[in-house]
Amino acid sequence: MNEREIRCPADGTLVATVREFSREDTVAAIETARRAFDEGPWPRTPAVERGALLHRVAGLIDRDAKELARAESLDTGKRLVESEYDMADVAACFRYYAGIAATDDAGRVVDTGRPDVVSRVVHEPVGVCGLITPWNYPLLQASWKVAPALAAGNTFVLKPSELTPSTSILLIRLLTEAGLPDGVANLVLGAGPEAGAPLAEHPGVDLVSFTGSLATGRTLMAAAAGTVKRVALELGGKNPNVVFADADFATAVDFALTAVFLHSGQVCSAGARLILEESIHDRFVDAVVERASRIRLGGPFDPDAEAGPLISAAHLAKVEDYVATGLGEGAVLRCGGRNPHGLFYLPTVLDGCHAGMTVVRDESFGPVLTVETFTGEDEAVRIANDTDYGLAGAVWTTDAAKAQRVARRLRHGTVWINDYHPYVPQAEWGGFKQSGIGRELGPSGLDEYRETKHIWQNTDPRPQHWFQP
Ligand code: ADP
Repeated sequence: MNEREIRCPADGTLVATVREFSREDTVAAIETARRAFDEGPWPRTPAVERGALLHRVAGLIDRDAKELARAESLDTGKRLVESEYDMADVAACFRYYAGIAATDDAGRVVDTGRPDVVSRVVHEPVGVCGLITPWNYPLLQASWKVAPALAAGNTFVLKPSELTPSTSILLIRLLTEAGLPDGVANLVLGAGPEAGAPLAEHPGVDLVSFTGSLATGRTLMAAAAGTVKRVALELGGKNPNVVFADADFATAVDFALTAVFLHSGQVCSAGARLILEESIHDRFVDAVVERASRIRLGGPFDPDAEAGPLISAAHLAKVEDYVATGLGEGAVLRCGGRNPHGLFYLPTVLDGCHAGMTVVRDESFGPVLTVETFTGEDEAVRIANDTDYGLAGAVWTTDAAKAQRVARRLRHGTVWINDYHPYVPQAEWGGFKQSGIGRELGPSGLDEYRETKHIWQNTDPRPQHWFQP
């Protein structure tokens, strides 16, 4: 049996040693989930009872929020306060889907025009769900999948990132404590190509929901084609943050920093493309650079730290390569651009960029901001949409009509106007274009985990004599 050491990226402290699953182990977990779906009580448990269980889970997350936040910070290196916000959001997600499950109607009755027919369209669980999650928001991303999957009556196999398994392990315990029947929730740990791949390939899985990189998303989608599984993909973004000259300057500068440097840029919706109206460019970039240079880096329990480390040495190397590529393409380094110590990377601003550059097209998933400029609304929209991704973006202006016009023209799944990053479980989250397929959160986030069935009942059947008797 292989084991993996989980180390805090902030200082290398050994956090846990966990088992690594093989392909065979994952197949066994799929078979357990399959039996629980085909033979167990959960899919047939009334929706109100499923809702009640999810409510209990939310309460248990609140009860254990401190322990969960600490575990999340140790695995990811993120500041404890950020993990505490994340745990509140995890509980809110379970509560939201508890509410929908408990209050959802049982489908709809269709008027067929025939008084002898009862026709109903009902929702049913999809079946066994393979849930694959990343390392940046480990428990939050798991909750966006686990809560609706359970609300809809599915069973699942969850595979968290091999780098950050701790809170998923704790979640499975809480689901058991809340009374979830045996075999409904299954956890597999380990690397993607071994422990994860069967979730996309195995015929016993009905749906695979994945959050992670575009490259892995493509691999999984191709693998899922073999058994025509449903796929739900959230594959990141290269998100434009568009600032018009009439925006509130100080607020827009402040949010430009949060947009990209929160969690050291390891956020799929990071506002990594700052797109400025030309007339404010110099002053705006100076202000961003001045503040970015003062961001304090530190570990999760350092009260002075404002941002943490990158997740791993491999990821640090990727961010370093990415910045080197940008400089090679002619970007102008205004601050940062180096690793000061450990797995930390200084908040970095690259000016003089344009949409043709690799550094503007590819996601860095690090604390790297590229700056482009525009003149006029049409050019702002054109540049902001000039990306293969389409996850999120923002527009800053005090002109409400312009804000609405631009928001409608942006080809991105979430658009913030004079804000950056907020989301609520009631509103859908997901991407246009190569940012993914499907939506998480909101009512659509539940629909991902439901099949639709039409039931037609002839209440007065008689011979039809289509063919002569
Ligand atoms: P990153 O490169 O940021 O780590 P990945 O997309 O590789 O992002 O990882 C996201 C999740 O996908 C992780 O849980 C990882 O283990 C899993 N994963 C990676 N490769 C595969 C694969 N071939 N099959 C299934 N899961 C995978």
